[in-house]
Amino acid sequence: MNSCLESAETKVTNAYVARVIEETKAKNANEPEFLQTVEEVLTTLAPVIDKHPEYEKIALLERLVEPERIISFRVPWLNDKGETIVNRGYRIQFSGAIGPYKGGLRFHPSVNQSIMKFLAFEQIFKNSLTSLPIGGGKGGSDFDPKGKSDNEIMRFCQSFMTELCKHIGHNLDVPAGDIGVGGREIGYLFGQYRRIRNTYEAGVLTGKGLEYGGSLARPEATGYGLMYYMREMLKANEMTLQGKTAIISGSGNVAIYACQKAQAYGVKVLAMSDSNGCIYDENGIDLDAVRQIKEVNRGRIREYLESHPSARYTENVKGETPAVYTIKADLILPCATQNDINLETAKLLTANGAIAVGEGANMPCTNEAEAYFLENNVLVAPAKAANAGGVSVSALEMSQNSMRYSWTFEEVDQKLDSIMVNIFKACKDAADEYGYGKNYIAGANIAGFLKVAKAMVSQGII
Ligand code: NDP
Repeated sequence: MNSCLESAETKVTNAYVARVIEETKAKNANEPEFLQTVEEVLTTLAPVIDKHPEYEKIALLERLVEPERIISFRVPWLNDKGETIVNRGYRIQFSGAIGPYKGGLRFHPSVNQSIMKFLAFEQIFKNSLTSLPIGGGKGGSDFDPKGKSDNEIMRFCQSFMTELCKHIGHNLDVPAGDIGVGGREIGYLFGQYRRIRNTYEAGVLTGKGLEYGGSLARPEATGYGLMYYMREMLKANEMTLQGKTAIISGSGNVAIYACQKAQAYGVKVLAMSDSNGCIYDENGIDLDAVRQIKEVNRGRIREYLESHPSARYTENVKGETPAVYTIKADLILPCATQNDINLETAKLLTANGAIAVGEGANMPCTNEAEAYFLENNVLVAPAKAANAGGVSVSALEMSQNSMRYSWTFEEVDQKLDSIMVNIFKACKDAADEYGYGKNYIAGANIAGFLKVAKAMVSQGII
């Protein structure tokens, strides 16, 4: 295999790109995650901008990195002890150039404006890659759902939606789930929206329950889509999933369905994790046991040992490589959170013989880690493309809501599979055309950008 990294020399070759990166850094100095993704995306766009010098006159990149709107609001709610708690809510409506803003809601104590902006910025390109008409947005709160009762979750969701409902709508902005927001939370959010707006606007949220407008295969979509993309990427490099080993970070929605599909393709999944630590099962992870712990009991992954005493549990140590990444495997599937894999971890995984990384989570690798993988011929399935299955089926959920009709599981899954095939092809074709070889990260950024840029040009200076 040739070295995949051919982007290094394009780093500063385009003066316009370099200037916008510097200006963005100066304007947003306290937003490291946002700057990280802007730098990654704009750097890889340099050869495209070389071909389109006219973009500079219309400040296309300056407009691209400035959100159309940032909404930040107070979320007061009462806990079970009757105490008043105040959280902060966000909705970033980053780009509506190709359709209504679309992107998930994250409830996690780490949520801040930088994380919201990075997620919303990435969502622009991801949504463009799906070939469906959706713009980029993201939202959430620094609320921590862990350890909260059902009633507390409901009261929080109701308070959050009481403000958010003023800013969303099925033709305006359509949120979905993300970390800490699953079917239960979407249900409470939808109920409050319906009550306040006094209308049954099913397409205002996606990830809904089947009884009230949800789509079959939406829970599975991100994890399944990731494995469809991995299948295509390996195929293009004359490999298959069958017989490979894998490690998966996380044990939430994306991780669980990535594991299920990986196993269906004959991959042996050796380890999964949560934020506390990882389980290693040399016989292959028993996914039913993980699902019982995570989806039903809402427990911790170490409880796996209770039913599988021969497995091993390793606790994470703060500041050290997450335990899951110390296990040798062919396929590395980070499905937890951003910046999970830094340069040091990338070196360890590469030395341990990793063949490919499939980014189920958003921005799970630092820019240095991604560059190291590519330089060392480890294939990278970039998040913007590889985890786009979730938002794709969300868009299919919106279509079904508009048609007041629903497709079967097989129909949705089939559409998802072809969308992922097309996304991989778009990444590969763009990488080939712009001289990026096997750098599908650059391919995804370019393919996603081109459509948005054309739409921005057509719509004038707005
Ligand atoms: P879930 O809330 O269902 O699961 C999150 C998992 O990641 C949990 O196992 C959680 O462990 C772990 N995790 C969260 N934060 C951290 C952290 N700081 N350090 C270590 N582990 C952590 O979320 P999802 O599965 O929905 O999302 C996972 C990733 O996939 C996110 O990056 C999300 O943005 C991305 N994604 C999700 C999509 C979707 O459709 N849901 C679509 C596209 C991308 P613990 O329980 O200990 O917190």
